[in-house]
Amino acid sequence: MSTGTPYDVHSIRQRFPILNRKVKGKDLIYFDNAATAQKPVEVIDALTQYYSYYNANIHRGLHTLADEATAAFEATREAVKEFIGAAHSEEIIFTKGTTESINLIAAAWGEACLSAGDEIILSSLEHHANIVPWQMVAQKKGATIRVIPMNDQGEMDMAGFHALLNDKTKMVAVVHASNALGIIQPVEEIIRSAHQHGAVVLIDGAQSSVHLDINVREMDCDFYVFSGHKVYGPTGTGVLYGKKHILNSMSPFLGGGEMIKEVSFEQTTYNELPFKFEAGTPNIADVIALRSALAFITELGKSAIRMHEDVLLKYATAQLQKIEGVQIIGEVENKVPVVSFVAAGAHPQDLAYLLDNNGIAVRTGHHCAQPLMKRLGIVGTTRVSFGAYNTQEEVDVFITALEKSLKMLR
Ligand code: PMP
Repeated sequence: MSTGTPYDVHSIRQRFPILNRKVKGKDLIYFDNAATAQKPVEVIDALTQYYSYYNANIHRGLHTLADEATAAFEATREAVKEFIGAAHSEEIIFTKGTTESINLIAAAWGEACLSAGDEIILSSLEHHANIVPWQMVAQKKGATIRVIPMNDQGEMDMAGFHALLNDKTKMVAVVHASNALGIIQPVEEIIRSAHQHGAVVLIDGAQSSVHLDINVREMDCDFYVFSGHKVYGPTGTGVLYGKKHILNSMSPFLGGGEMIKEVSFEQTTYNELPFKFEAGTPNIADVIALRSALAFITELGKSAIRMHEDVLLKYATAQLQKIEGVQIIGEVENKVPVVSFVAAGAHPQDLAYLLDNNGIAVRTGHHCAQPLMKRLGIVGTTRVSFGAYNTQEEVDVFITALEKSLKMLR
């Protein structure tokens, strides 16, 4: 919820110590937020606080430190539940990131629910993290992967999607907002139609969780996954949301401590949700600090951040369009603040190098979406992606540096 105060990007920037540093003698301009976001001081402080005052293992301890650590860890679970509008806190499983969340679902749901001949639907825009785990389980179970086609702008072809659905479809796993192009996909329609065919739907929220209001109950997705480090939180934290009855029907992913009720050499019984899927000592400190990251977003208000980022997105898009030989890939209205482009006569890697010399961090390459790049007939793009702390002045510096770099390369 927003506090109602005007969006003051300069005071927001003061909460991010890294933004004070220089790169190659220039003020850092960080435009690689889709890869990972920077961390506000309260997230960094939460880590220090945990290790300085109440470092202890959680859930099993009967001493003050263990109680405090357990309470802080479980408070993050509650915060995540609120953040994505889940009905029950036991539907929130902590993992180390989107990749682990999808691997967990593919292995544990796939083991319980897939048989030979079943079909899994993915889209042409998926990150490798939402392709490879499905290939692994499909191979094991004799299932087939079908791929939703897309148009040249990078929007899923919904007629093509409807044509793929049939009574063999068991899973539809799609990205909410493409990391390579930023395009927001029509997941509501996908979920509705997939459910009409009795299929389960996983939404890869790695890029949507930080920018869009997420309510998993309204979306009615069966699984929603995201990474803590992309929502201004620590690396090594991830979330797997799953509907309770589906999580209950799945076998555990990892075996060990914490996920059991009773163990003997003859037989083991498993713990309740969410602990059934959280074997071993979790990433306690980082999960605790994730709560501060979610609080940061909630304090500013997602809609206020989005309005700010949208101005940057539109401004950067307009400025890039003016540069000769620059072609934006995926130019549609409905986007998260990501702009991907190719520039005639300039290899993305050379551009990244020259921009870095100006203190500007951008990402280049295939963005872990090689099938998408192949579909678009390109090897890669240069991608700029914005966060809550970026400014229009930074876009101006970037555009000037880009024009200068292009002159050098052409
Ligand atoms: N899916 C998408 C859409 C992503 O953008 C990313 C991260 N680039 C991932 C999955 C994987 O996330 P992680 O590396 O945090 O596990």
